[in-house]
Amino acid sequence: MRIICSAVVAAVIVMGSGSSYAQQLGGGKTVLVIHGGAGTIRKANMTPEVEREYREKLSEALRAGHAILARGGSSLDAVEATIHIMEDSPLFNAGKGAVFTHEGRNELDASIMDGRNRAAGAVAGVSVIRHPISAARAVMEKSEHVLLSGKGADLFATAQGLEVVDPSWFWTERRWKELQKKLMEEGAPGAKAEIEENQAGEPSSHKFGTVGAVALDRAGNLAAGTSTGGRTNKRWARVGDSPIIGAGTWADNKTCAVSGTGHGEFFIRWVVAYDVAALMSYAGLSVEEAAARVIATLKDVEGEAGLIALDAKGNFAMPFNTEGMYRGWIRADGEPHVQLYEEESAAPAKPR
Ligand code: ASP
Repeated sequence: MRIICSAVVAAVIVMGSGSSYAQQLGGGKTVLVIHGGAGTIRKANMTPEVEREYREKLSEALRAGHAILARGGSSLDAVEATIHIMEDSPLFNAGKGAVFTHEGRNELDASIMDGRNRAAGAVAGVSVIRHPISAARAVMEKSEHVLLSGKGADLFATAQGLEVVDPSWFWTERRWKELQKKLMEEGAPGAKAEIEENQAGEPSSHKFGTVGAVALDRAGNLAAGTSTGGRTNKRWARVGDSPIIGAGTWADNKTCAVSGTGHGEFFIRWVVAYDVAALMSYAGLSVEEAAARVIATLKDVEGEAGLIALDAKGNFAMPFNTEGMYRGWIRADGEPHVQLYEEESAAPAKPR
């Protein structure tokens, strides 16, 4: 018996955390972790109704992705389906509900990455594609490129048969008012005086709502995806970190899958998503240690940031240096867990 046990242990050690690990053990160890943006998320700013809406939508997104993982689907499919739910919800700054540019448009960014082979796809500044995450996936799977932008990205995604919507699809009153408020603060002429300081029950910050997902499937493969409207009042075709592989999104089975949210310029300069993976691979840190260190570094330089990171054994971390982050996870048992505020942070990282 002891010999058999040690043989199994040895096999697991030899296989390490590569893609064959879960497969050899018979699979079943699926994990999906999501975020819906980091920022000034305080209980005091929420009505119970709005809080419930967020919790329900995050749970729905987790269940949608889990359903795919539970029937043996891929982590890529789970990430995409999960993000679709959040892109279609006006609660988040992605797809419908995206923030407005200075000119009053919605320009959407998204990226996706496959942990098996570092295949990646991204779009920046799309304006008529209902699900930018699917446009990113189409770039990964149907083109020779990694990142397409603007009109070209819209044309490519349209040619791939993705759902096209009128730009007004993305319009929401809440985001429009956030833009008007920003414009008024800047003293822009013509900004409408239709601003209520803190709309009842809604978080007051314009700085969050990006969505992301990382998943581990039964075959032991990781994937990551991120989708956003960027930052309110952005100009000059500004592109943030979300469509930049290595900054806002990363996935490699050898280390981890990462999706970030926060001040994108810092994510780009600190190469955040890849830095988590690099700390794991070069410095031997665990996913929790690596993620915490990167977020702490950004705090030191006053870069608002949060991220989700998941390794190939199912360990994950959800650190942030803001007051809160919409976040959640679901394991093979199919029970969704959702957290909003800082005080809810526990230690959920051990695989089961
Ligand atoms: N990181 C996004 C950007 O800078 C925004 C966010 O996550 O809130 O475009």
